[in-house]
Amino acid sequence: MKRVFIYKNDVPRTLEIAEALEKKLEVAGIRIEDSPSEVDLILCVGGDGTLLNLMQKHEFPTVPVAGINTGHLGFFQEIAPEKIDEFIVRFLEGDLVIQPYNIAKADIIFEDGGEIAYRALNEFVIKGQGTHPVHLNISINESFIERFSGDGIIVSTPAGSTAYNYSLGGALVDPRLNLLQVAPMAPMNNTAYRSLTSSILLPANDSLIIKPCDEQSSTLGILFDGQDQVYSGIKSIELCLSRRKINLVRFGGTTFWDKVKTKFL
Ligand code: NAP
Repeated sequence: MKRVFIYKNDVPRTLEIAEALEKKLEVAGIRIEDSPSEVDLILCVGGDGTLLNLMQKHEFPTVPVAGINTGHLGFFQEIAPEKIDEFIVRFLEGDLVIQPYNIAKADIIFEDGGEIAYRALNEFVIKGQGTHPVHLNISINESFIERFSGDGIIVSTPAGSTAYNYSLGGALVDPRLNLLQVAPMAPMNNTAYRSLTSSILLPANDSLIIKPCDEQSSTLGILFDGQDQVYSGIKSIELCLSRRKINLVRFGGTTFWDKVKTKFL
């Protein structure tokens, strides 16, 4: 017997669709579990933000996740509610296409020797407080690249390239590519400060190292997939692709670029 876990937001339309989904799953003989461990599939009902919350809350499960879209954009959430019957048949027949997605990892190291780590499906944003610019030394692996001055830095996965990264002028990246995109947020470029003004792309095994240049810049906002934290006494932040990937179910036969066309143009 196939087993699924359902994750949903609490929007009325989602709750209505989730209730209908549960009934259809029961009729099809699919068991609904209370936890995502040891299931064949996770069904996520909501928008892209709901999928991001699911990943953070359940530590980026590697079991396939199928998104039923009740949100606004639905870039991850490919299954329209009216396609649920067709989806259940294909699930029972084992006829689903799985697309692995990279996730990003950030290790924050503090002056006092402490460390904390986060993962993100879309992106990390490293930024200053209020309107103060931050001054950050940026290296790739061991090589120093630039002293960045500006609002901050956004480091996104291919999955996140269509989200905040895109609004900031970053490039759209096909999720089959294994890379990290580093885009500057309002970089200062004048005779006093010289920062790169375009995004740069890092291959899978490289790391971006960010070190605050002064006391004020050692207090930073760390945003990841819509969640945010502020930390003081930061010595360095290392960002790279995680070895772990998540697996999203593709449905409807559309390519990444079909979706870009439908959602953005
Ligand atoms: P949210 O309301 O959950 O998401 C904001 C919008 O971003 C929603 O329309 C959401 O789609 C869409 N979105 C999320 N991931 C996407 C992706 N990979 N590709 C295309 N669109 C995507 O807001 P939140 O909880 O604060 O933050 C979640 C995400 O919002 C962040 O990871 C960040 O990328 C994005 N964000 C964007 C901006 C900006 O563009 N200026 C600013 C802040 C944050 P649904 O409607 O389907 O949920």
